[in-house]
Amino acid sequence: MSTSALSILQTVFGYPAFRGEQQAIIAHVASGGDALVLMPTGGGKSLCYQIPALLRDGTAIVVSPLIALMQDQVDALRQLGVEAAFLNSSLDSFAQREVEQRFASGALKLLYVAPERLLTERCLDMLGRGKVSLFAIDEAHCVSQWGHDFRPEYRQLTVLHGRFPDVPRIALTATADAPTRREIVERLSLDTARQFVASFDRPNICYRVVEKDDPRRQLKDFLGAHAGESGIVYCLSRRKVEDTAEWLCEEGVAALPYHAGMDAAARTRNQQRFLREDGIVMVATIAFGMGIDKPDVRFVAHLDLPKSMEGYYQETGRGGRDGLPADAWLCYGLGDVVTLAQLIAQSESGDERKRVERGKLDALLAYCETTACRRRRLLAYFGEDYDHDCGNCDNCLDPPERWDASVVAQKALSAVYRTGQRFGVVHLTSVLRGEADDRITALRHDQLSTFGVGAELDKQQWRGVFRQLVAAGLLAPDDEGYGTLRLTEASRDVLRGATPVHLRRQADQGERKRARQKTRGERARASLDIAPHEAPLWDALRDLRGRLAREQGVPAYVIFHDATLLAMLREKPRTLDALGAISGVGERKLARYGEAFLGTLAAS
Ligand code: ADP
Ligand code: ZN
Repeated sequence: MSTSALSILQTVFGYPAFRGEQQAIIAHVASGGDALVLMPTGGGKSLCYQIPALLRDGTAIVVSPLIALMQDQVDALRQLGVEAAFLNSSLDSFAQREVEQRFASGALKLLYVAPERLLTERCLDMLGRGKVSLFAIDEAHCVSQWGHDFRPEYRQLTVLHGRFPDVPRIALTATADAPTRREIVERLSLDTARQFVASFDRPNICYRVVEKDDPRRQLKDFLGAHAGESGIVYCLSRRKVEDTAEWLCEEGVAALPYHAGMDAAARTRNQQRFLREDGIVMVATIAFGMGIDKPDVRFVAHLDLPKSMEGYYQETGRGGRDGLPADAWLCYGLGDVVTLAQLIAQSESGDERKRVERGKLDALLAYCETTACRRRRLLAYFGEDYDHDCGNCDNCLDPPERWDASVVAQKALSAVYRTGQRFGVVHLTSVLRGEADDRITALRHDQLSTFGVGAELDKQQWRGVFRQLVAAGLLAPDDEGYGTLRLTEASRDVLRGATPVHLRRQADQGERKRARQKTRGERARASLDIAPHEAPLWDALRDLRGRLAREQGVPAYVIFHDATLLAMLREKPRTLDALGAISGVGERKLARYGEAFLGTLAAS
């Protein structure tokens, strides 16, 4: 059995070998077993049901909440020569009947169905009359009412087991935490399913956190190293999404907005463009992204702090699904902490829920401020033991210094105390640096003993100190969002000198400028390491792919992934056989596109 699974992998998909547990999962499901698969985004979940679908008699029913993406998923399978179709509300009744007939005749190997459609009597009857090979329940975490992707219809999917007890089921998700996993098992009656839990590490993603200084300039510098590449920029509010997208367009970046306040047609249009065209930057709230299986997203930038480690991990996980290098870049400052703390304090949730949310925010702040390997921290949060430093995060690549900031912290805390715990960082910094202005004079804060005791740090350094003190729970922002700071329980020991405080050393201005120049000087296409002399051929290969994709109205990656083009660029195959040996070139694509790509390669 496993040899035929392998030969399908190689001939249909064009991949030389299975990844991780794919082979075991495929064998288990193909032989009729139920499975629950937890794998990070980009881990290769689709093959886990697509190959069993090709090995078993009948049609695999794939339940997916992502109507807008079904067309692309089906297109991708058709490119491989696999008979596939979908049923959802976007089809008119004529098209729907046609799909139903193809199912009944046994012609389809895979049928994607929206859950609300699947649960109709009409659809269940139809399935009963044909032959179902397996049920794949994608995005299975949608059964969980605690996640933000909750879909009530998912809870009714247990009827599948009741009506088709002999058909194997495979549920898949990239949501890692144990409570969600338990809920999936319970809600989908999967207690006897075998669980496959992959490592959640995404080694090709480089994690970076930078302190917010001048966010637009910082974003621009960051995007400068990713010119011409697809990526996502996450913002907290709809307003900021629109402003940022507009500003980026003025700056010559191909940016589009996406948020839940836009009408559905505009949202779909922007999503389609992002999926289909090369080099679009999507500026979005977290409403964007679930199930976006665009493989060549080269970066995910956060202009605001995500709400939790779970959110951060999911959002950044949308980068680099093709296994090529991708950047996760988070730009964060004290203002973010104040905003999120306020959102939690003012939400309608009960106290217990608020406490949980506050805990999640604190975990994320600790991640942002850590001087240790970020990947270790991230994986530890998800209960995974990663026992070495990764070498692919900012802290590993450019280790920050820690310094004993006990005295500085005492000065900051006492400035907060002496000014009555009613002021924000700007005012407090002026007091500490001894810079009197009208307000300070009027409030007589220039008479305080802390006035001018902190001239050794500049404004930016003080901002970093205050941010870190808040992140460490030594200061707390007010609940109303004015940005004023007050002392906490923990502050007292620091003020008494009983607890030392160690902080992360801020990169100095000169260093920063140098870093910036380096980024600017780096060539576009930097993240794929395309050398200048390779650029003409790379562009020619991408143009050819783009043209083929446009002719058929499918996304470019459906023709070939970047990883496959990159292998062509490096190996320069001259014959069909050599081209066919490249990962991602299956038989069908070789027959269809082989000559065209050989032509472009030969012209180089
Ligand atoms: P997931 O659904 O888990 O996020 P996908 O199924 O979309 O991930 O797979 C991610 C990418 O990896 C896809 O581009 C897929 O074609 C590719 N892929 C999956 N399995 C393999 C494999 N064994 N060898 C090479 N590429 C693979
Ligand atoms: Zn690291």
